[in-house]
Amino acid sequence: LTPVPSDLEISRAQIPKPVDQLAEEIGLLPEELEAYGRSKAKVRLSVLERLQSQPNGKYILVAGITPTPLGEGKSTVTVGLVQALSAHLRLNSFACLRQPSQGPTFGVKGGAAGGGYAQVIPMEEFNLHLTGDIHAITAANNLVAAAIDARMLHEATQSDKALFNRLVPSVNGVRKFSPIQISRLQRLGIRKTDPASLTPEEINAFVRLDLDPSKITWQRVVDTNDRFLRKITVGQASSEKGQIRETGFDIAVASEIMAILALADSLGDMKNRLARMVVGTSRSGQPITAEDLGVSGALAVLMKDAIKPTLMQTLEGTPVFVHAGPFANIAHGNSSVLADKLALKLVGQDGFVVTEAGFGADIGMEKFFNIKCRASGLRPSVVVLVATVRALKMHGGGPNVGQHSANLSLVAGGCRSNLRKQIQIVHLFGVPVVVAVNVFKTDTQAEIDLVCQIAKECGASDALPCNHWAQGGRGCSELAQAVKEAASKPSDYQFLYNTEMSIVEKIRTIAQRVYGADDIELSPEAKTKTDYYHQQGYGSLPICMAKTHLSLSHMPDKKGAPTGFVLPIRDVRASIGAGFIYPLVGTMSTMPGLPTRPCFYDIDLDPVTEEITGLF
Ligand code: ADP
Repeated sequence: LTPVPSDLEISRAQIPKPVDQLAEEIGLLPEELEAYGRSKAKVRLSVLERLQSQPNGKYILVAGITPTPLGEGKSTVTVGLVQALSAHLRLNSFACLRQPSQGPTFGVKGGAAGGGYAQVIPMEEFNLHLTGDIHAITAANNLVAAAIDARMLHEATQSDKALFNRLVPSVNGVRKFSPIQISRLQRLGIRKTDPASLTPEEINAFVRLDLDPSKITWQRVVDTNDRFLRKITVGQASSEKGQIRETGFDIAVASEIMAILALADSLGDMKNRLARMVVGTSRSGQPITAEDLGVSGALAVLMKDAIKPTLMQTLEGTPVFVHAGPFANIAHGNSSVLADKLALKLVGQDGFVVTEAGFGADIGMEKFFNIKCRASGLRPSVVVLVATVRALKMHGGGPNVGQHSANLSLVAGGCRSNLRKQIQIVHLFGVPVVVAVNVFKTDTQAEIDLVCQIAKECGASDALPCNHWAQGGRGCSELAQAVKEAASKPSDYQFLYNTEMSIVEKIRTIAQRVYGADDIELSPEAKTKTDYYHQQGYGSLPICMAKTHLSLSHMPDKKGAPTGFVLPIRDVRASIGAGFIYPLVGTMSTMPGLPTRPCFYDIDLDPVTEEITGLF
C-alpha cells in the first residue's frame, strides 16, 4: 500500500498461519514442538540429533554500517531477504533474529521485528514477552545475586559448625552431601564423601566462600532502561546486620546468562557454563563460581525452556527463529548458536539461513566472528552490509538524524569514510560482502546509485538498492540473487586474532585493526584485573568489547571513520561461563537510561478489544 501503513497495522492485517502448520511445512515433527499460543512455539533440541546427517544450508550474516540512533534496518533486511529467497528464488530460507529488550521497546529505538512489509508477525508478541526467555534470564541472574548476599550474611554471623550443620542438614540422623557439594569439595582437593569424616580445617574451607565484598563482580539485572539502578546500596535493613555494600544493576539482555544462552550448544553445555560463572573473588584471591554458591543446578532448571529457540514467521509465512538478545555494544548481541544450527539443518543443503549481528560491523559482526563462530564452528559464506542514505549523510558531515534533502556530497563523504571502513572490516575476516542499501522514500535515485557505485569501488562483491520495507520480499529479490551468487563462491575465512595472544594484545588488535585507533590505554584498575585474569588462567579467552555503537571510536559524536585516537579501557571484566573477557571502553554503561520522551508515551491498550496501539 502507498503510503506504507504503520508496522503494527501491517502486522495486524496479516493473520499468521497456525504454528503447527508452519512447523509441518519446514519438516518438524509434532513432538518436536511446544506451542505457546497459536502463532509461536518452542522447538526441541532433539531435532539436531534427528537431522545430524543432513548437510547444513548456506549461512549468511547481516551486519551494518555505523547506525544512527534509530537503526538502519538490519532486522528489516534480514526479514526481507528471507522473504525474497523463499518467495522469489524458491529456496528454503530461515531468519534467525534476537528477541528485543524492553529497554529499547519502551525507550528510544522501538521494536526489532523488522518493519513495513518485512516483519515478523505477530509483532506485538515478538516485541513483548514472547516465550519468557528474558524473564527466565532475569530470574536466574537475580537468584545468583540473592545467593551471594545471603551467603555473605550467613558466613558473617555463624560459626563454622553452625554453617556446616545447616549446609549439610541431618535427615533421619544422617548427613549427606548433595552432588553439587561433592563437586565443591573436589575442587577444594577434599576427596571425601562422608560428612562425618571432615577435619575442622576441611569444614572451614568447605563452609566459607569468604567472598571479598569489594571484589564481587556479579550485578543484579532488570530488562528496563532504569538508569537510577546503575549504582545502589544493598543490605540497609537492620535484619542484614550491617552487611551493607554498593552494587548495581545491568540491563538483563547484557547479562552473562544471556551470553551463555546465545553461545551454548546443548543443555549440558549450558549447565556447565552456568556452573563456571565467576561471581567474585575470595579474600585470599580465589575465584568463586555459581557452583561454589550451590546454585548452578537451580539456574539450569530456570533456563531449561529458554534454551529452545522460538519459532515464528515472517509476513510472507517463512520461518523465523527468535532466540537470545540484542545489545551488541555492551553484550555480544548475536542470536543463538543453537537457533542457527537448527535452522541450517532444517533448510537443507540448498537452503539459506540469514542471521543478524547487532549494530555496525565493528561491533556485532566482530563479536560474531571472533566469539560466536569460534564457539559454534560455523562459518558464514557472505556478509550483507546494510547501509542507508540517511546514516551515510550523517557520516559525511550531516546532522545525526533527519537530513532529508538530497545531498550527494554528504552521501559520498559517508561512503568514502564509514562504508569503506566497514567493508574493510568484513574483508579482515576473508568473507565476501554484499552491500544492501535500505531505501527510504526520501532517498533520490542519484544518491542510491552513488552508494552502490562507491561500495563496489571499495571492494563489495555487489551493492543493490532494497525496497523490502515498502514492497516485502519482492522489493529485495535482486539482493537475494546477489547473495545467492556470492554464496556460491569459496570464501577464505580467518579469525582476526589468535586467542593465545595476551588479553592486552587482543584488545589492541581489535582497537587498531577494526576501530582504527592508534593504540589503547588501560586504566590502573583494568591493568590489575588483566594481570589477575592471566594468573587465573583466563588469558586465552576471546574478547567482547563494550563500546558505543554510534561511532567506530569510543566517542559517539565522532562519525565517519575517525583516526588518531587512543582507545581508553576503563575496566575489564571476565565472563568465564560465557567464555570471554569483557573490556569496558570509555564511559560505556551497562545500564541504558530513558530519554525525556520515551516510546512508552505512545503505547496504549484498548481494554475492550485488547488491541495494543502505538507499538511502532
Ligand atoms: P536495525 O535492525 O538496524 O536496528 P530495524 O530493521 O529494526 O533496524 O529498523 C529500525 C526501524 O526503522 C524500524 O522501525 C523499521 O520499521 C524502520 N525502517 C527500516 N527500514 C525502513 C525503510 N526503508 N523505510 C522506512 N522505515 C524503515
